[in-house]
Amino acid sequence: MSQQQFHERAVLVTGAASGIGRASALAFAREGARVVVADVALEGGKETVRLIEDAGGEAAFIQADVSRADEVEKLIRTSVETYGSIDHAHNNAGIEGSQGYTAQCSEENWDRTLTVNLKSVWLCMKYEILQMLQQGRGSIVNTSSVAGLVGMAGFPAYAASKHAIVGLTKSAAMEYAKRGIRINAVCPGPILTSMTQRFFKTYPHAETSLAASDPMGRMGTADEVAAAIMWLSSDAAGFVTGSALVVDGGWAAQ
Ligand code: NAD
Repeated sequence: MSQQQFHERAVLVTGAASGIGRASALAFAREGARVVVADVALEGGKETVRLIEDAGGEAAFIQADVSRADEVEKLIRTSVETYGSIDHAHNNAGIEGSQGYTAQCSEENWDRTLTVNLKSVWLCMKYEILQMLQQGRGSIVNTSSVAGLVGMAGFPAYAASKHAIVGLTKSAAMEYAKRGIRINAVCPGPILTSMTQRFFKTYPHAETSLAASDPMGRMGTADEVAAAIMWLSSDAAGFVTGSALVVDGGWAAQ
């Protein structure tokens, strides 16, 4: 049997109670990593750990609201105490915010969306990078979106937060490129998860139209995004930093 790609590496995944984060946590664990499953959601987080353990992997749940500096600082400290290092991080927690055009966007929605989606990624990177500098190596993948590359009418705060994640990723990548830390973003297109399912509850016809709007005629799966995250994190991507890898069935190419 071939050596597992992430054998005995310590990996932190945020937003790992559901969707893309859960798929990423499971994929890292399948490849031999010890995974810290971080999320504000207790039940889903524990369930991800159970799924990993049932498959023979190793994981620990740490509950954290990654939009809060004190909780992120504690999350990183506890992760290092748990598995001894943070070799790879996937900063993925996010929310869609509420729908409405720019002139209808409330200050509350703006602040919440930017804090949960963007400030959290900066906070996580801040403490992850400090740890990775001590280790002399590490890699980070931040979850942006195709809405980080093109506009998304009706979700201005979401699109602004996801564009900013790309800028933040590129800046940090340049800063730490010579220090052994690679930092990339992944930009998923329409993926079937709790986030899109919430949207389909309000707009039941959107599921068909969203799938039809993709050149592949379907939505993507969380596992397909996880595969890209794994590659970006792996040694195979050793010369890749500051990139925003699109995983969207060609959606943003239109
Ligand atoms: P999801 O709702 O299934 O998962 C998001 C997870 O983040 C949840 O478990 C939630 O509890 C957690 N979370 C939210 N706020 C948090 C906080 N403050 N602290 C800690 N955890 C928090 O949605 P998903 O589709 O898997 O989304 C994951 C990421 O992928 C998000 O950043 C999202 O913007 C991005 N994304 C999703 C799609 C899509 O079509 N589903 C497309 C592009 C990008």
